[in-house]
Amino acid sequence: MAKYHTQFLLSATDASQFPVASVPEIAFLGRSNVGKSSLINALLGSQHARVSSTPGRTRAINFFALHSSATLAKPEIIFADLPGSGYAKISKSISAEWPKFIEPYLADRSTLALCICLVDMNVPAQENDIRLASYLQGMGRKTLVVGTKADRLSGNGLVKASRELKSGLGVEMLLPCSAKTKRGIPELWKAIQEVGEES
Ligand code: GDP
Repeated sequence: MAKYHTQFLLSATDASQFPVASVPEIAFLGRSNVGKSSLINALLGSQHARVSSTPGRTRAINFFALHSSATLAKPEIIFADLPGSGYAKISKSISAEWPKFIEPYLADRSTLALCICLVDMNVPAQENDIRLASYLQGMGRKTLVVGTKADRLSGNGLVKASRELKSGLGVEMLLPCSAKTKRGIPELWKAIQEVGEES
């Protein structure tokens, strides 16, 4: 599993506050309570994403720099933790109630290498997630759908949930993960590092 030194960079609530675009960025998207903080913490092996539930930061994009050495020179990868509450309300125009800077981030960010869309494996495809997946596909963004809380399902239940979510969201791949058992975490790191190397 990847070993990085992680540094919280900043919380942005406006495009002018985004860090300089320099290294491949991985965006994490998902409704509140989907398990986004837990998954990021499982990836980083610590409590970094707790910062995202700090009041005032929940409607911001929180950026984390991942360094392969402790020197804190140029990071190798940046994680962008996108607000979860905003698009629980995505309306037909996808972003009507989204903070205004989210859509420009997804549409224009030159270093955005992978969008990790989190959906709860225990919940059928939701309208908002379907819209988000099709929005990202429409923009040609490389997207990976991660099914969270996979530990709550087993055997046929997991296979069935995975098949139904893929078909509901219109995607070919879904990676079942669990922050609790760490299932899927090595595979998720592999996907992240692959796009990091390609970029
Ligand atoms: P966020 O709002 O998307 O950041 O979600 P959190 O990470 O705070 O998790 C929301 C709830 O789901 C919490 O009660 C977590 O304990 C629970 N949860 C998160 N990940 C998992 C998981 O992998 N398995 C199980 N069983 N519960 C999880």
